[in-house]
Amino acid sequence: MSRISGLDIARVTLKQRRTKIIATLGPASWERKTLHQLVSAGVDIFRLNFSHGDHAGHREAMKRIRIAARKADRYIGVMADLCGPKIRVGKFEGGGIDLVQGETVIVTSRAVKGAPGLIPSQYRRIHEDVKKADLILLDDGNLMLQVDRVRGRDIECTVVHGGRLKDHKGLNLPYSTVSVATLTPKDRKDARFAIGLGVDYLALSFVRSAKCVTSLRRLIAKEGANTAIVAKIEKPQALTCIRDILDVSDAIMVARGDLGVEMPVEEVPLIQGELVRLAIEANTPVIMATQMLESMVENPRPTRAEVTDVATAAQLGADAVMLSAETAVGAYPVAAVKTMNRVVRLIEGHQWKHGQFDKLTDHADLGDAEGGAPLSLPEALSRATSLLSRGLAVRAVVVPTNSGNTARSVSAERPAAPVFCFSDKDDVCRRATLYWGVTPHKVSAKLTRDPPALARWAISKFELATKGQTVLLVWDTSPDRDGSQRGVSVVEV
Ligand code: PEP
Repeated sequence: MSRISGLDIARVTLKQRRTKIIATLGPASWERKTLHQLVSAGVDIFRLNFSHGDHAGHREAMKRIRIAARKADRYIGVMADLCGPKIRVGKFEGGGIDLVQGETVIVTSRAVKGAPGLIPSQYRRIHEDVKKADLILLDDGNLMLQVDRVRGRDIECTVVHGGRLKDHKGLNLPYSTVSVATLTPKDRKDARFAIGLGVDYLALSFVRSAKCVTSLRRLIAKEGANTAIVAKIEKPQALTCIRDILDVSDAIMVARGDLGVEMPVEEVPLIQGELVRLAIEANTPVIMATQMLESMVENPRPTRAEVTDVATAAQLGADAVMLSAETAVGAYPVAAVKTMNRVVRLIEGHQWKHGQFDKLTDHADLGDAEGGAPLSLPEALSRATSLLSRGLAVRAVVVPTNSGNTARSVSAERPAAPVFCFSDKDDVCRRATLYWGVTPHKVSAKLTRDPPALARWAISKFELATKGQTVLLVWDTSPDRDGSQRGVSVVEV
């Protein structure tokens, strides 16, 4: 412990990190050696970004991830991120043009090459979706146009913020109703391919409503799979129906890159806080993404502001923090993961020491059940588990889980002790790599059907507790001859 003028920054290091780390694979990280180093540094889930690379590359990456996980003898999840209807400008004579503030330019859906004053859009129906006074943002919002009028396929605009516009830069229409489907033909093809590879999560970009998620769900079902879906929240429209989206999604991602273009950037901190709060309330895992340690793309040490950003995500209680360019194309991919690991662990040690994990949920006690809507059984069991974990200072929570739902539900209550979940299915274990505080292990189906025996075995195998200490056992799916038994029990060692 260090004390600086009375400021207590106790260094408690918990055995199990609660907040998970997601790293995007790319040229900087897919060599076998780097991949192993990333796993050792603490990556829980790898993200394959389908905006880049080809199927052969993703197949090879998948193979390497599975080998690295086997060597490390732990579960590593894989998330395929579908690129979605990202709108881009076309190509220009000479590779780019300069936009000057106050000048008039034409954005066109005609198939032409760009030239000074003329910007081709790769999205062919853009002229149908914009109207006078709408804003068109270019190059991650660095350049801005305002629509003056639409004439046929040409959109006449005034440059609000000028600068250089290069080939294929992104184009955002934050306040227009875009008719393009969230799941593009490329996404459909990529999704089928990724499902075939056996990825654990499919991330869907530019989700605008619950319907976007259910259309991907239908595609997954048609493939005979049940791959989990991460809804990427990056459009203002998604915020207006976020509870419906949470209802149908297996996880959400606060995709702050596009979110910060589509919304005024100063709103991002408030939005991310609310999204984490609502997701935890809905038992839905939430990922904080983009530019977390951006300067580490080039530098071995992060900025103080970036470290604070990672710490804030942990303090809010996000299930996972994500690295994008830092690990995909950066010069210091392993250092970025190690940094994230250190920052998150220090925060969690502090939270644990000060009994703050329960503050991560809206219902720090069971009181809000009174007079409110009745709790579902899994919710009630999970809340009781969280309460007991604090009150009895238990060493661990043991959860046999069939579909992973019990583990997810217990995790959402942010208990004070680490959660060890046990399933006989590899896919359930891999999916659980995303859940806050949960470490998945595979056991025989027979053992999952005998929770007390499982708890005894787990305590000894993983040295979860010593004599006199306690562990909680939660089970919600134990079919026995007399029907199903559910409960939380205190196992004293
Ligand atoms: C984002 O926009 O923050 C994001 C995660 O999506 P992508 O990296 O696909 O742009």
